[in-house]
Amino acid sequence: MPVDSISRPLLDWYDHSARALPWRSPPGSAPPDPYHVWLSEIMLQQTTVAAAAPYFQRFLDRWPSIEALAAADDEEVMRAWAGLGYYARARNLLAAARIVAARGGFPQTESALRALPGIGAYTAAAIAAIAFGEPATVIDANIERVASRLFAIHTPLPAARTAIAEALSAHVPAERPGDFAQAMMDLGASICTPRAPRCLACPLRKACTAHACGTPEAFPVKPPKKPRPLKLGTAWWIEHDGSIALVRRPPRGLLGGMPALPGTGWAETEDDSLPFGGQWHRLDTRVRHVFTHFELRLTLATTSVAERLPELAGQQLRWVPRSRILDEGLPTLYARAVRLVLESPQPQMKPEMP
Ligand code: SF4
Repeated sequence: MPVDSISRPLLDWYDHSARALPWRSPPGSAPPDPYHVWLSEIMLQQTTVAAAAPYFQRFLDRWPSIEALAAADDEEVMRAWAGLGYYARARNLLAAARIVAARGGFPQTESALRALPGIGAYTAAAIAAIAFGEPATVIDANIERVASRLFAIHTPLPAARTAIAEALSAHVPAERPGDFAQAMMDLGASICTPRAPRCLACPLRKACTAHACGTPEAFPVKPPKKPRPLKLGTAWWIEHDGSIALVRRPPRGLLGGMPALPGTGWAETEDDSLPFGGQWHRLDTRVRHVFTHFELRLTLATTSVAERLPELAGQQLRWVPRSRILDEGLPTLYARAVRLVLESPQPQMKPEMP
């Protein structure tokens, strides 16, 4: 199949149909600032365009250059990231910013970009292609779907990825590889959608094998679904004179470094233990949160204490006024838990000495 059968009609379509996104340059123009490309790509990992766009703008307003971000206070960046989820991304963002600022700019090749914290195969290829014009093969979820249909790849995911990359790389043009990647993304977002792709409006329908077979929705072939494991835990709402005790989660692992309510660990069996005796109230509703690899159900137990404890089970406590607790940059799981407590009728409890 000649290369032009895909890249030419796709780029022609992109020239008049490209989405205007705050981190992009118009089709065919000079590449955008690598800082913008990198920042947007990190934000877009696991986050939609609509959700990421206001964060992107706020980050640029606050830290207009990679040097400014590299010099930022860790806590402030984590707070600005709150709500985007997958907080390891924010820690890696800072680590990468400091490396790039120290070396005087971004590396320009896919392999050198890959060595930066938080940059995997997709992100390295996207930055290399979009910011530096390297003919890298960029494959995100949208592109994976479009390519699996174009070439009718019957192998189920994730094993299909090698075949998809091989087939697509033969069509990446030496000119405008960044626009090619972004055009594939846009096509997947607007025309070659997961359900009911609009093949009649598609610039690639003449080259598309799945369309020719009449079975576009059969691709990509999905592996059989595995059930998501369930974990349980208890969070403790400890109140003293209108202030609530918060902890900071350990720096590594899920929600690492983020503020949280103290509580038990998370395990497959219920742990409803409490850190000290006295009068506790358990809420009937649990907080349910779906992480990538498991679902968590968190029970909430509330109590009131007669004095501020400095620490609990080896963890330092920070006391935050009830009225300001939602401004603390809590990750979504704990923000939801806090709202649940704030909206629940609280029994009158006599503050006790723990
Ligand atoms: S023709 Fe249909 S299935 Fe093929 S790439 Fe276009 S929208 Fe997707």
